[in-house]
Amino acid sequence: MAITETMAQYDYEQLLVCVDKGTGLKAFIAVHDTTLGPSLGGCRIWPHKTEEDAITDVLRLARGMTYKNSAAGLHLGGGKALIWADPRTQKNEAMLRIFARYVDTLGGRYITTEDVGSTTNDMVIISQVTSHVTGLPRSMGGSGDPSDATGLGIYRGMLACVKEAYFTDSMRGMTVAIQGFGKVAGYMAEHLKTAGAHMIVTDINKDALKRAAAMGCEIVEDPEAIYDAPCQVFSPCALGATMNSNTIPRLKCKVIAGSANNQLATAADGDDLHKHGILYAPDYVINAGGVINISHEIGQRYSEEAAREHVMTLYDAVAKVISVSKQQGIPTARAADFVAEERIRQVRASKPMRAARYKPA
Ligand code: NAD
Repeated sequence: MAITETMAQYDYEQLLVCVDKGTGLKAFIAVHDTTLGPSLGGCRIWPHKTEEDAITDVLRLARGMTYKNSAAGLHLGGGKALIWADPRTQKNEAMLRIFARYVDTLGGRYITTEDVGSTTNDMVIISQVTSHVTGLPRSMGGSGDPSDATGLGIYRGMLACVKEAYFTDSMRGMTVAIQGFGKVAGYMAEHLKTAGAHMIVTDINKDALKRAAAMGCEIVEDPEAIYDAPCQVFSPCALGATMNSNTIPRLKCKVIAGSANNQLATAADGDDLHKHGILYAPDYVINAGGVINISHEIGQRYSEEAAREHVMTLYDAVAKVISVSKQQGIPTARAADFVAEERIRQVRASKPMRAARYKPA
């Protein structure tokens, strides 16, 4: 489908193409929807094979941010940037400064932040040119690494799921199978440990497994075996597409709650989980702790305490999706989209009050 057709079909507002011969910059900034506020989304730096792949990716990711920010109740729209380059070999300061100029031309309609291929340090460079950047280090008054907030958010969303599936407010005595023990899972595990949960962990990285073992987690050496682990909650915290027709029938749990993006291989897998009676916490809702944390940098002085309080409300965001899913008899993945879209629809429909105008006869 032609790009303009895709944009019209999914209501995109804008696609900015950024080219600079001097630095070799080729980038795209997609603004999907600003109904709820300025669009916020990361700057991905990735060497896609073709220009079409790069544009398709940035459009898809920008739309994803609209849903994520809306479902999290943020006063932010969805956008994303993609610098079409290899972050290891082609990224440089001059290129990032030119990219920042393009961000600046949007006058705040798009706010950038870290993503795959970009770093906190890159955001510092970008902040020299534009103020429409977040994810700055704590030393510069920013919110720093979001993984801590994401881990807390997953824990809170998991509690809402466990309340629904197991009728309890506590994780005490629950077994959580964790796939991938990286930054987010490490922080989440601290909350689970304090709450008295038992954890079964797998990872492809031996150091990660050592960290998990040091926290008292049970270790599963074979990463594939984690799907068969007897548990109440399965927590995908590594890769996307791990919930698919091969893995779903193997799961022993009633709840899926983890941080990985795009956990469902296809939309049909979300329907399948629903049919199997497994409560799936939609990834973009439960993993919004990081973006909530970052949002506290915008238009205010970042406060860790205020951001943490805000991340705690992911319990309510996940509970709302569960409630809509029950009311409408639809899978949670579809309920999440409904919640996100409905908020935007309502805000769009509300007409701003205008002062009465004098109309000459
Ligand atoms: P990370 O790289 O620190 O951790 C990922 C872990 O998964 C690593 O330890 C890696 O070895 C392990 N892993 C990779 N493949 C695996 C496999 N096949 N089986 C088992 N383990 C495997 O990443 P992170 O920051 O903790 O993020 C985890 C996930 O959450 C990612 O999908 C990320 O996109 C998503 N996410 C992260 C944040 C955040 O704030 N960091 C926010 C939203 C979403």
